[in-house]
Order: sequence, then structure tokens, then C-alpha cells
Amino acid sequence: MENKSNSQNLASLDYLTGLVNRRGIYEYYSNLDKDKHIHAMFIDIDNFKRVNDIYGHSIGDKLLVCISQLISEHTNSFAARMGGDEYVVLFDAHHSEEAIVDISEKMLAGMQNINFRKDILSLVSLSIGIVMNQSVTQQLDDILAKCDAAMYQAKYDGKNRYTIYKEYDKTIEINRNIELEMEDALKNGEFQVYFQPKVNMITSDLYGAEALSRWVHPVDGVRPPMAYIPLFEKNGFISKLDMHVYEEVCRIKSTWVGKTYEHIPVSVNMSRLHLYDRLFPETLLKIAYAHGISPKELEIEITESVFIKDSTEMILMVNRLRKYGFLVSIDDFGSGFSALNLLKDLPVDTIKLDREFLHVSSNTVRGKKVIRNVISMCRDLKMDVVTEGIETKEQIDFITSCGCPIAQGYFYSPPLPVKEFEDFAEEYSKNPHLSHNFRLNGSLASEDGLFEGQFVGEGFEYRQGIFKESKALYFPGGAFEENNVLLPETVLVNDSFTISMWLKPEALHSWTCAAYIKYETGFCAIVPQAWEGVSSTRVRDSRDINGWYDASGAPLQVGAWYHYVVTYNAKNETLIAFINGEVVGIVENVPTNRYAKQIRLGGDPYQPSYQGCITEIVIYNEAKDYDFVHELHRRYTDRENFLGF
Ligand code: C2E
Ligand code: MG
Ligand code: MG
Repeated sequence: MENKSNSQNLASLDYLTGLVNRRGIYEYYSNLDKDKHIHAMFIDIDNFKRVNDIYGHSIGDKLLVCISQLISEHTNSFAARMGGDEYVVLFDAHHSEEAIVDISEKMLAGMQNINFRKDILSLVSLSIGIVMNQSVTQQLDDILAKCDAAMYQAKYDGKNRYTIYKEYDKTIEINRNIELEMEDALKNGEFQVYFQPKVNMITSDLYGAEALSRWVHPVDGVRPPMAYIPLFEKNGFISKLDMHVYEEVCRIKSTWVGKTYEHIPVSVNMSRLHLYDRLFPETLLKIAYAHGISPKELEIEITESVFIKDSTEMILMVNRLRKYGFLVSIDDFGSGFSALNLLKDLPVDTIKLDREFLHVSSNTVRGKKVIRNVISMCRDLKMDVVTEGIETKEQIDFITSCGCPIAQGYFYSPPLPVKEFEDFAEEYSKNPHLSHNFRLNGSLASEDGLFEGQFVGEGFEYRQGIFKESKALYFPGGAFEENNVLLPETVLVNDSFTISMWLKPEALHSWTCAAYIKYETGFCAIVPQAWEGVSSTRVRDSRDINGWYDASGAPLQVGAWYHYVVTYNAKNETLIAFINGEVVGIVENVPTNRYAKQIRLGGDPYQPSYQGCITEIVIYNEAKDYDFVHELHRRYTDRENFLGF
């Protein structure tokens, strides 16, 4: 196909380059034999807009002329400028694919040798889309759509290259359609937020949720993120989508006021593009406040690979997000080359173990050891661990035995639309504070009916409690581990805890325990009389020969009631003992014991058993603060029928 521009009439010519224009190519095509086949090439100048913006239109025009010459010379076929910086060349079908590829490669290389300012040439390149062997029975538009799509693919793949359209590869066209639809789809509310629950596997309580986007397309139905997220990451639209999801999360969360799950943390995924926006944390904070949501209840998930690519920026960003009060997690941990070294500098709140990592590793003995130790390391670094992709009961048993109680996976629920999530949350957040109250007021059952203790031995009685009408459990005393009560150890699921109990000793043996928690790694004991008549809360870390920690209390008198509270905060490793609502002892740097094996009331393996009453024992799976304990105590003593100490 010769360039026939000379013989065409003026209306079909491009005034600037002398090539055929859009009208000219349609005319030419309509005159081709219908039984012919052709190849078509779409050429676009990369960054041409920048040349115009920086150097002005007259330089831009000159560049268009030079590139037109380059195209004419190399293709030696029918070339047209379609407008702007786009060219189309039509070839006879007798050109082989190798010949077309050769032409493309020569044009790409030739760009650097055209006679033009080198500084400008360094900015620009060509993206070329090719379609082979097209029957002329088709509309020209259909052929152009294919090579245009191939050209877009070349741009996505990094520009300065050619791509050949494959009939069977529909992704190119699909991507092109998605791009044409995405802005309107966002405006029309087609991007909806689904919530996938995070659940405490031991207690089956709702722990939190992750917000995941879904494109609810009017024709295609629900499109999964994999169909559009990778594309949006390339074209930058992900920033808009992420902010939309985040706004929606804040808005939806603000409608949960008064619900049992009102305060659950909700996480959102943030693409790496936000990393370069210094004002990003401020923007998030403003949106949260506008909806009356505390940043403490919002978690930003950043995927592992980002940390490895952009570690310095990431550390700055994580620090800033946390300074504003947001929670931050590393997503898909274990999916790539996890930078263990980075973990030590990255003060994130949570690590999310990757689904594939779990599935692949949990099949072998070595893999299991890796998982167990990764979890243990994260917890040592005071980070929470969430395991993604939990699908079976076996996985639950294994992962909980590794010390990770939180899961997100199909076993509990797939991501759900808002209404269905709210139903799930209602069902699973009956006990949002994870506290269990054993009143010991005539039975060993917990008030929520979920747990029941068990007598070991005899001689127990119910005697007068702390309120006029209430009872307390009397322990008769005895030798080691005799006449005790065991509470189910599964009430303790977190590293941090608070235990509140009322006790009235009837006899005081030094070092006898009123309550004793045995861990795989040590123990915690509440001792009414320890050193020199003073009570103590003792933590033993059996991993360390010198691992003894005592939060001392006050001397207790036989026959008097005491409200004894112990809190342990695993985040700052602080143990605090309270008596009657006031702090009596604080110890810092107390290592965290893990995996409660036994909760024993009234004794331990080493000392004679406790003699006296215990009642109103409440176990919380979090460290409560002074205000809480003080208020808790006041609520007991302010009750009309409280009998006094
Ligand atoms: P992700 O953040 O790691 O989210 C978890 C993905 O695992 C979700 O896929 C979820 O449906 C899936 N999943 C959860 N439990 C199971 C399970 O037990 N088995 C299996 N097979 N899969 C499970 P989804 O919703 O398709 O999202 C895929 C990814 O797309 C997400 O991975 C996230 O990286 C990204 N993504 C989704 N929505 C957004 C968004 O709004 N913004 C950004 N930046 N990324 C998003
Ligand atoms: Mg995620
Ligand atoms: Mg993930």
C-alpha cells in the first residue's frame, strides 16, 4: 500500500504533516477489495502532552512533523494522522509478522536519531499497537479498536514498545472498557463496600472487619477486585477508589451507634500510591472526624510488598498514621520476601498472615514450625496477628495452638454486603468485651452462661456474700491442690487481662494462692499473704531463671472482705495490683506469659490451699486502667445492699 496522499483531495489531507487525515483513511478503506486482508498499526507518542505543556505548541507541531516522516520512511505503507499524536498505518497482508515487528523495532529505535532537540527527544517515545490479518469485510472501526487496545496495553507495560493484539486475549479489550466506565461507575455508586468479619476463634466473638470493594456492574453483576484493582493500580484510579471505600466505611460505621459492634475496628486497604502524599494521614483524619469516628477504630492495611520496595517512605508513613491514632497493619505477610529486618523498625499494630502462606506452609512439619515461630515473634514484638484464609476446623486448631486467636476466612464468613454483615455482627458480638463473670453466688457457672467451673475436692459451702442477699463460695483449705475450683482456661484468650475478685481470708498461710493461672511459659498468682504479711501478685517467667516479678499489696486481715484486682498489659508489659479500687503495686518489664493451661481458685501445686471466701470473680481479656477499676469498685460499694468490708 503506497501512501496515496498526493492523489487525494485536500479535504482528506492533514494540513500539518501532509499525511492522510481521519477522513482520508476511511475513504481509502472503503475502496479496498472486500476479499482482501490487511494489518493495522496504531502509533501514539508517549508524553506528547508534556512536550506541548513545557515547550509550547509550535515545538509540539514540529515534533509531529518529524515523527510523521519517521513513520512514512519506515513503514512505506498507507499512513494517516488520526488527530493529536495518534497515527494509523495500514499494511498489505503480504507483510509477514516478522516484517511488521522489524518495522516497529526500527521505528522505536529510530526515535532517538531523528533530527530534533535531544532534551525533548529524551522525554518522548512511541507506543505501538498492531493487529494482523484483518478481513476488509469488517468495519474499519472494529479493526482500529483492536490495534488501539493493543497500543494501550503497550502503554501499560511501560511505553516505548509494541504489542500485537491477540484475538483470543480479551483482557486487553476488557481493560479498555473498564477504563471507559470507571469514573461514571464511581459516581453512580457501583463500587460498594463489603465487610469480611475477623473473628476470635476461641470465643467465636466478632473482633473486627475488613472493608473490601466490589464493583456491582449493572450488566455484568458483581465484579471481584482482581478484575479491576491491578488495572486501577496502573492507571492511578485506585487512589480515588480507596478514598471512596474509606469514606463509606466511616459513614457506615457512624450508623452503628448503640450497636454491640459499634466500636469494632474496621480495616481498609491502601494502595502504595498514597505513600507519596504527605497530607494523606491528615486527609484521613479529617474524614474520620467529619463522621464522628475515632481513628483508633480504623486500621490501614498496607501490603507487604510495598514495605520492601519503599521502606523508608513506609516507615515515615506508618509513624505518621500512628501518631494520628490510626491502627496500621501489614497485609499479606509471608506472601513475598518478608523483610524480617524491617519488622524491627516498623511499629505496626497487626500482622496479617497471608492466605497462601498458611495454605502452603501448614502442610509440612517445617512449614508449621515457620508459622508457629512467625506468630510467636510477632507477639514478642507486641504486634497482633490475624490469620487470613481460615477455611477448616483443622486450621483453627493449629493456628490457635500457635497463639493466634484471630482469623479472617471463609470458615466464618466471606466478605458480606453491609446489611448481611450487620446481621452477622449482631449474632457474633453478644459478648464484645470478652469478660466473664463468675459470681460464685450459689453456682460455678459464668453469668453469660457460656462457662462453668468445676470443684476439685470437698468441704465447700456457700456463705454470706458481699451483698445482703448474695452468697460467696467458702474454700475449706487443704494440702497442695486440694479443695480447689478450676475455671475453664479458655476464658483467658488474650495476653492482656484483668482479674477482679472479692476475697475474705479465714486463715493466712504465707504464699498460699487465692487464684493461680498456669501458663505454658510460667504462672501468675494472687497471694493474700506473701512477704512480711503483705499480699502480692506474683508473675513467674519460667523461660528465665531470674524471672520472678512481684506487685506487692497491703497486709490483709483475717475475716475482712477485700476487693482485689490485677491487671496485666502485654503492650507495655506492666502488672498492676489494686486493693479496694486503689493501686497498691506496679511492676514494669514483666514478660508476657502465653497459653493459659489452667485457672485454679483456692490453691496451687506448691502451697497449702486457701481457706476463706471468694466471690464476684470477673475475668476480662484486656488490661483495664485505673479509672475503670476505681469505678468498678465504687459500683460494688455504692449498691444499697452492700454489706461493708
Ligand atoms: P486482601 O486485602 O488480602 O483481602 C483478603 C482477600 O482474601 C479477599 O479477597 C477475601 O475475599 C479473600 N479471602 C478471605 N478469606 C478467604 C478464604 O478463606 N479463602 C479464600 N480463598 N479467600 C479468602 P478479595 O475481596 O477478592 O480482594 C482481593 C484483594 O484485592 C485484597 O486482598 C486487596 O488487596 C485488594 N482490594 C480489595 N478491595 C480493595 C480496595 O478497596 N482498595 C485496595 N487498595 N485494594 C483492595
Ligand atoms: Mg487486606
Ligand atoms: Mg491480605
